[in-house]
Amino acid sequence: MAAAITQAEAATISIASVSDIPAVDRILNLTAAQPLLAQYGRTRVTAAVRRHLDQLRADALAGKLAQADVDESQLVEILAKQLAAANRLHLRALFNLTGTVLHTNLGRALLPDEAVQAVTSALTAPGNLEFDLETGGRGDRDSLVEDVLCELTGAEAATVVNNNAAAVLLMLNALAQRKEVIVSRGELVEIGGAFRIPDIMQRAGAKLVEVGSTNRTHAADYANAITPRSAMLMKVHCSNYAISGFTHSVEVSTLAELARPHGLPVTVDLGSGTLVDLTQWGLPGETTVRETIRQGADLVTFSGDKLLGGPQAGLIVGRADLIARIKKNPLKRALRVGKLTLAALEPVLRLYLAPEFLAERLTTLRLLTRNQLAIRVQAERLLSVLQTALGTRYTVTAEAMFSQIGSGALPVDQLPSYGLVVRAGNGAKRHGRALDQLEKALRQLPRPVIGRIASDALWLDCRCLEERDEAVFNAQLLDLSL
Ligand SMILES: *Cc1c(COP(=O)(O)O)cnc(C)c1O
Repeated sequence: MAAAITQAEAATISIASVSDIPAVDRILNLTAAQPLLAQYGRTRVTAAVRRHLDQLRADALAGKLAQADVDESQLVEILAKQLAAANRLHLRALFNLTGTVLHTNLGRALLPDEAVQAVTSALTAPGNLEFDLETGGRGDRDSLVEDVLCELTGAEAATVVNNNAAAVLLMLNALAQRKEVIVSRGELVEIGGAFRIPDIMQRAGAKLVEVGSTNRTHAADYANAITPRSAMLMKVHCSNYAISGFTHSVEVSTLAELARPHGLPVTVDLGSGTLVDLTQWGLPGETTVRETIRQGADLVTFSGDKLLGGPQAGLIVGRADLIARIKKNPLKRALRVGKLTLAALEPVLRLYLAPEFLAERLTTLRLLTRNQLAIRVQAERLLSVLQTALGTRYTVTAEAMFSQIGSGALPVDQLPSYGLVVRAGNGAKRHGRALDQLEKALRQLPRPVIGRIASDALWLDCRCLEERDEAVFNAQLLDLSL
């Protein structure tokens, strides 16, 4: 599309008219256009040619069509670019340099190759999703992962739904519809705007009974709230906030003692739900699903794509009689997972059976445990490429910074990391604008680069930049248009 031409430019370029614009067929018959026809088909290429020529006609009538705009080889080149852009999928791979490893907006956990291969196979061949290979009869899709989930958590039974929000909704609807659920005021969480415990409770048809205060809840608060209408005592992980200072909350084991004489279950929404002790890799400690069950939780719900490092899923593990009730609920059918999820989940869970290899084989854990020195070496390797691509308007340095786990996992803990810090100019005005411009240009690369702007700088944390992707990262920086 021709830009408006200034007088100075008009003196040096020759203006073209409508009669200089080639016919559609002429373009379609050009040798250079043949690969486009082969790739995209005549229908799409013809439409693209028409659209572009219409634009040229409008430019010509406005007196702003240059001879160069009707150059045939240039026309084909523009068409190739337009068709390639239109053909690009909306869901694209990008570089997550935000420093948040499990970034909800960027798709959370990355899956290991074992999971990718299992998904490929599930996509391209029929499988025993609900078919019992022993009996030849109908099978249960949960049984594909139930054994391994029980082995890893010490639970009697397990079921899987679409995500953890669905797991909580289903559990509440199945066990507490038209009844009361007792929860501490300090645990009424909101996750990412749309998931709020009080709202989910209402949608599930359960009545929330809040006990205690925001910062302190005691065993007696729960005990005093138990009535014949109670369905369960529930604990919710404070995933994305921390209450510190003068605080008190009640342990799962205490709740279990309180609930047992009344025959009430204790349920725990663990959110991220780790399956192993993360402190062995120097990461912050989190109560595992197994510990929560050992402490007396009757049911535990958690996500598949947070710290677990698998596909989006909601896992419910615990007492066999309660899981059986949950599985009979019609919502279970509405919230069930597809074969791709199960295909990806099983190999990820199996990696946990060999914890000694986990930090190497489970992508999420590998990224979380990347050593700061290794990240530093990488950042320093990338520094000059980025500085060259950005030119003198920007200054790039390699600096220490902190990554976050993300996805509401361990909100207060940060991981020592390293990355590139870009500052705009030196002493020039409108720094903010130059940074915003850079942030946008990086976002518009073929494989967008996403960082974060803070303290007048663009921070590009290298923790999640896989070494095998570095070549692509570097190569596309050369095309950066600022
Ligand atoms: C993340 C989270 C959820 C929601 O899980 P999704 O898998 O995102 O649906 C629910 N409860 C808690 C405590 C969480 O941290």
